[in-house]
Amino acid sequence: MTLINIAEICPSTRTLGPGQRFVIWVQGCCFNCRGCVSPEWIPQKQATEIDPQKLANYILSIPGTEGLTVSGGEPMLQASALSELFHNLRQQRDISIICFTGFTLTQLQAQNNPTIDQILTLIDVLIDGQYLPELNDNQGWRGSSNQVVHFLTSRHLPEASLFTQRQRDVEIHLRPNEALMVGVPPLNFSNHFKTAIDTATK
Ligand code: SF4
Repeated sequence: MTLINIAEICPSTRTLGPGQRFVIWVQGCCFNCRGCVSPEWIPQKQATEIDPQKLANYILSIPGTEGLTVSGGEPMLQASALSELFHNLRQQRDISIICFTGFTLTQLQAQNNPTIDQILTLIDVLIDGQYLPELNDNQGWRGSSNQVVHFLTSRHLPEASLFTQRQRDVEIHLRPNEALMVGVPPLNFSNHFKTAIDTATK
């Protein structure tokens, strides 16, 4: 059993894929995209390590969970632990799995790595490729238009257009001492949000 090294979770959101979803952001990325929305999750360091079986049970204990979205960080650096998580979930319930990666699908397939091949059989939708800010077209659940949405199963084909054309939105989840932004943010969202907060607190 390999532990999953997690930067952050959100137990329930509607902004990162169809339906109500649990979200995991893994810690550690091998890329360094300009304009990365989560640079604090790039360092490959130990964050919160969790047993995949226990995490699967927790995900399925959240009322109304329809799917899991995995982002980061780079999920494919933890393919073994995530594969175990996905397998545990699917053994218990046929929920949707969406995964972001900075690798292209072609690069992943070219590795001829049985663990990568295994995880690809468990993912419904893979959103691939590094983030390129100059190709951010301000729509959909992908960060920039070079990223390809691969429907590896037919589960989300009826909602296919949402992945590339949906009007973006985010949820702000308040914690005791911080706020977590969940979703692919609209262009200039951080500036607009800061202005709104400054205005409200004057
Ligand atoms: S692949 Fe994702 S997490 Fe990694 S640097 Fe690029 S945008 Fe950031």
